Amino acid sequence: MRIEKIDIFENAKRPIIGAGPCSAESEEQVMEVARELAKRGVTFFRAGIWKPRTKPGCFEGIGTIGLQWLKRVREELSLPVATEVATPQHVEQALAADIDILWVGARTTTNPFAVQDIADALRGVDVPVLVKNPVNPDLELWIGALERLNNAGITRLGTIHRGFSSYGEKIFRNSPQWQIPLELKRRLPELPMICDPSHIAGKRELLSILSQEAMDLSFDGLMVESHCHPECALSDGRQQVIPEELFVILDRLVHRSPQTDSSEMSRYRTLLDDVDAELMRLLAKRMEISREIGEVKKEKGLTVFQPYRYKETVERFAEHSAVHRLDAEAVKDIFEVIHSESIRQQLRIVNDIRD
Ligand code: PEP
Ligand code: MN
Repeated sequence: MRIEKIDIFENAKRPIIGAGPCSAESEEQVMEVARELAKRGVTFFRAGIWKPRTKPGCFEGIGTIGLQWLKRVREELSLPVATEVATPQHVEQALAADIDILWVGARTTTNPFAVQDIADALRGVDVPVLVKNPVNPDLELWIGALERLNNAGITRLGTIHRGFSSYGEKIFRNSPQWQIPLELKRRLPELPMICDPSHIAGKRELLSILSQEAMDLSFDGLMVESHCHPECALSDGRQQVIPEELFVILDRLVHRSPQTDSSEMSRYRTLLDDVDAELMRLLAKRMEISREIGEVKKEKGLTVFQPYRYKETVERFAEHSAVHRLDAEAVKDIFEVIHSESIRQQLRIVNDIRD
């Protein structure tokens, strides 16, 4: 992908902070919260004008009139402004109002037709676009949306991690599944990555801990929903914080350096590298033995998967994990990956599949 830097982010101090209400509700509400946020100097002001709501009957956004309020925020308070676009008409109207940053919402990222329509509407326009993760934990779908925009010539791209939907009782509104944005960062390191702790949390009490977690995982910034009267908010009231509370959260953040140039660190890294090399050697040896077992299974006409043996091994792993002060669940996950690779290799042998 051809990616260029987003000036608003480059010129800002770290972490990048986007803040503002879930929805623009009235001119007074927008100006009141924007004034408070501007005092502290956030990087950009956010507000949804068109709200994708899961169920009808909820507040679905104030519509086009809200763009004028965002314009006022930019002009009177010198704050760059951001809003969500979900259709080519939204894009057209947001561009006409000179919105500084557009974002694609989680429900839209899920739909390649919708993303393509947005990309086509943006062709030839040089506006920064932040792409939220799709509601379902599908990294390829997230990258696909970025590629569609990039193919249409949008080079100032960034991402927003807002967690993934799941069913049932849970602590978070949207499960963070940090490994997915981290894998995205590994694959596209040049893209700025922002965490939206508000939509992950679903309640303001969890914002602080999630924001710190995002900082510890090297996110470039945060986008937090803030409202002067969250109890009266027309959408997402439970997760919005008053600006003063947001500043307390930001002041409490511990900033750790991503640099690793200390000699103490490199000593530990060398030790880790040695252990990793040993793990590789053991893994290769394990697979070799496993392939030999595959030959025996083939000769004796045995099934590749033998449930009793699998159960026995998993139990042994669980026992040993306690002795070694390892997390039993994590060890089980690791074993499952190793075991399924063994099975895959044995299936190839039993069925005479060669490269
Ligand atoms: C929002 O930012 O208000 C929003 C609708 O978010 P998401 O697309 O993450 O649900
Ligand atoms: Mn919201």
